[in-house]
Amino acid sequence: MLIGVPKEIKNHEYRVGLTPGGVKELIQHGHRVLVQHQAGTAIGFSDDQYIAAGATMVTEASEIFAKADMIIKVKEPQPVEYRMLRPGQILYTYLHLAPDPEQTKGLIDSGCIAIAYETVTDDRGGLPLLAPMSEVAGRMSIQAAARALEKSQGGSGVLLGGVPGVAPGRVTVIGGGVVGLNAARMAMGLGADVAILDRSLPRLKEIDNLFDGRIKTLYSTQDAIENEIRQADAVIGAVLIPGAAAPKLVRQSMLKLMKPGSVLVDVAIDQGGCFETSRATTHENPTYVVDGITHYCVANMPGGVARTSTMALTNATLPFAVALANKGYKRALQDDAHLRNGLNVYKGMVTYEAVANDLGYTY
Ligand code: NAD
Repeated sequence: MLIGVPKEIKNHEYRVGLTPGGVKELIQHGHRVLVQHQAGTAIGFSDDQYIAAGATMVTEASEIFAKADMIIKVKEPQPVEYRMLRPGQILYTYLHLAPDPEQTKGLIDSGCIAIAYETVTDDRGGLPLLAPMSEVAGRMSIQAAARALEKSQGGSGVLLGGVPGVAPGRVTVIGGGVVGLNAARMAMGLGADVAILDRSLPRLKEIDNLFDGRIKTLYSTQDAIENEIRQADAVIGAVLIPGAAAPKLVRQSMLKLMKPGSVLVDVAIDQGGCFETSRATTHENPTYVVDGITHYCVANMPGGVARTSTMALTNATLPFAVALANKGYKRALQDDAHLRNGLNVYKGMVTYEAVANDLGYTY
């Protein structure tokens, strides 16, 4: 199969659909890979590395869209991209179609076969192609919090790990899923005092076992949240209610309970945020202050560590890419119900129920 990797064109998107290692793997399976000139340069994957892996470099994205049987990307196609998609061409990338009627129409009109990373499933009920980005965001949230606590950043001047003779800082993580667990792990690694709240008792049990009781687990109630934020130096918002906007768990009136100069990191901002005072920010201008509390609400955190994110994403997407290329989409989708769950648009039809319902298409 001929596989194409165009350079991402969304503003400030430095990730790329395949690492050179990913390219090499596909080539070893007998496929050919076209990579757009400088697709990975910004994150240290040079054209020479792609060439050494066996890729053919091309200058224009239009050549990739015109020739490739399968396009592998990171972000949803922009209008100039979905207009280049061809009938029967496989598009394998993040799509997030439900809130995006224009892109959905563009994909329908193209006649392509669009497989969305975010709806591919696994045996444990997880979303394996979304998880790596949650892992990145969770770990990064503690870096962001630690930095925001520095005096020069307007923070309280607390070092999360403390030093011998001085107590560590306190991190409260609300939501013990993939983001929350990774945040807790990082915070614990720094030496902080960590509490994690969730509404799932089985999940709290799992976390308790995993950390051998070294992390405090709490059932998430309004009362528990109020008690926790009084003590916290950093609060990480990591909740998710699938298919719904994030619940507002910390109201503005509660900010006065917190220590001045403490930090709220709202990772759930991409679902509207779980703090009432959250509004989406960017990597260029990541924080703002409300009632003396620093807010960090970057909506695309993994983009800030695009190299690590690209490697983590390729690790997760590659096995499915290999299956699609080796077997062809028909057999690959027939053989694997989890990959089939990723199919969102098929030759002019919306094939993912939630997207069809949200956007008024027949399913
Ligand atoms: P997840 O499904 O793995 O975990 C969510 C957890 O929240 C679950 O354990 C659930 O029980 C818990 N929860 C639900 N309601 C709760 C409540 N009221 N109190 C406490 N816990 C509650 O999800 P995830 O992968 O960890 O993602 C968390 C959020 O982070 C999502 O909104 C996701 O979209 C977002 N995210 C953002 C970025 C970013 O760049 N900002 C990157 C990745 C993920």
